[in-house]
Amino acid sequence: MAQLIDIIRVVVDPEYLTATVRVSNDAPLMTSEDLEGTTRVYNLMPTIINHACVGDAGSTFKDCMGDTELAHLLEHVTVELLSRTNLVNEVVAGRTWRELAYDRTFSIQLDCVDDVLVAGALSSAVWIISWAFTGGAGPVPDVDATVAGLVQLVQSMPADGAPIDDQYDDRYDDRYDDEYDRYDDKYDKYDEYDEYEEEQLDRGPRMSQKIF
Ligand SMILES: [Zn+2]
Repeated sequence: MAQLIDIIRVVVDPEYLTATVRVSNDAPLMTSEDLEGTTRVYNLMPTIINHACVGDAGSTFKDCMGDTELAHLLEHVTVELLSRTNLVNEVVAGRTWRELAYDRTFSIQLDCVDDVLVAGALSSAVWIISWAFTGGAGPVPDVDATVAGLVQLVQSMPADGAPIDDQYDDRYDDRYDDEYDRYDDKYDKYDEYDEYEEEQLDRGPRMSQKIF
């Protein structure tokens, strides 16, 4: 299956993830050029038509889904995947615009709730669009499994977003602390033993017992 949309560049800032994408020469630029493909996407995720969508034909995506840029459909598929993860408290908003300086190139800006999650959802959405607009051959994308995979991806990341190096350092420090505590305990026992031995010696020449 050909990849119909290439993600050329992704820029992450605290507010947004902005992806620049290029729609391949083999792909329709508009959903109206392949309504069967558009219907395949609708059948996978019918709730997509309820998305708020301003600036196009109406106030919901339903009003423009059949005649809008493929990149705009990609934006809404991404938003739908994100909302289904239940990891997002607020509704994720997106905007898509054409980069007029470049051929078949668009920018998609999404609320950056979690850069790993949003980037993952975007690439899953590219896969869904590619399937839908290349005749829908092969296995039908499993949206639930895709969403579950995204949740798993995010949950496997460091919770506080700390770089892996820091995580490693923390783990290393923890281990070092444990080691130190064990050594300390042992050392205390040595002290106890010494005291015990002194006591025994004070009492006279007797065999002392090992206490550890
Ligand atoms: Zn929209």
